[in-house]
Amino acid sequence: MGWPKGGSFEFSRRIAKKFTNLGGELNQSSKVEKIIVEDNKAVGIVLADGSEHRAAIVVSAADGHETIYEMLEGKYTSETIDKYYQVYGEEQEFGLQVFLGLNRDLSDEPHAVSLLLDEPVRLELKDRYSLYLELFDSNSGVAPEGKSVIKVVTKGNYGYWKRLREEDLEKYRSEKEAVYNKVLKILERRFPGIKEQVEVHDITTPATVERYTLNFHGWQPWPVPDGGVMTIMKGISKTLPGLQNFYMVGQWATTMIGIPNAALTGRNLVKKLCKKDKKKFKTQV
Ligand SMILES: Cc1cc2nc3c(=O)[nH]c(=O)nc-3n(C[C@H](O)[C@H](O)[C@H](O)COP(=O)(O)OP(=O)(O)OC[C@H]3O[C@@H](n4cnc5c(N)ncnc54)[C@H](O)[C@@H]3O)c2cc1C
Repeated sequence: MGWPKGGSFEFSRRIAKKFTNLGGELNQSSKVEKIIVEDNKAVGIVLADGSEHRAAIVVSAADGHETIYEMLEGKYTSETIDKYYQVYGEEQEFGLQVFLGLNRDLSDEPHAVSLLLDEPVRLELKDRYSLYLELFDSNSGVAPEGKSVIKVVTKGNYGYWKRLREEDLEKYRSEKEAVYNKVLKILERRFPGIKEQVEVHDITTPATVERYTLNFHGWQPWPVPDGGVMTIMKGISKTLPGLQNFYMVGQWATTMIGIPNAALTGRNLVKKLCKKDKKKFKTQV
């Protein structure tokens, strides 16, 4: 459908700027290790550097598994939550991606292309019969004038990449390069001359996403077993059983993926807290 100009980074930076302009304080690169609980009330957090920060309420927008089973040591959970985190899949959409920065103007090309392959390509020991591409020219704000980015998206298997990375980092890196070379060969047929135009390339696996976002297996949430639309609306962990002054927002609170949903859960919580504090909930557009 489209992408925000400048990409995700500019998009999130605008939100951060709005927040700090309104008086919010933002600390980046500050990993939360633990949520402090006293008398079954969340009263603050402990960061990786050991510092403690007390608070009237605690809201986690981080990974659900990490929040529930690490930061809170699995002390506030339910059968539904436990069952949910036991039924994750081995592979997921968007898991394996190849990015190419090109000295080539792709503004005459479509924004997205599905390549149906005459011969399957074997990635992660599995045949793939199509590759999905997203194309960004300089109008997207993510490439300089006359240059472009191609993102190649396919499913990725967590166990495959995680094992490789833990057992042999060099092998992991060379496997990623092998993926890149196979993909490049296919792209050359659709975009002749592309091989010589690649200025930079990068490959992300579920292990990369895990490392950067701390999300469980580098995954996005999966559907709740036997759950319907009402389960998604209600969420499985917007609050946790037996724990007061604590809330969760973001994709894991509702198990629904996507930026709009993540933003909506945050907005709805603030609205709820305003009501509790008898404050008028206002927004500016
Ligand atoms: C490859 C890929 C492509 C996608 N494409 C789209 C798309 O085109 N459109 C769309 O709407 N959605 C897309 N999604 C889904 C979307 O990115 C997610 O649903 C969304 O980012 C969820 O937002 P969130 O804030 O809940 O979680 P996240 O974006 O995962 O943010 C969680 C944040 O918490 C931080 N964190 C985690 N643990 C800790 C800790 N212990 N201490 C401190 N901080 C911590 C992380 O660093 C991270 O910044 C895509 C997802 C992937 C993986």
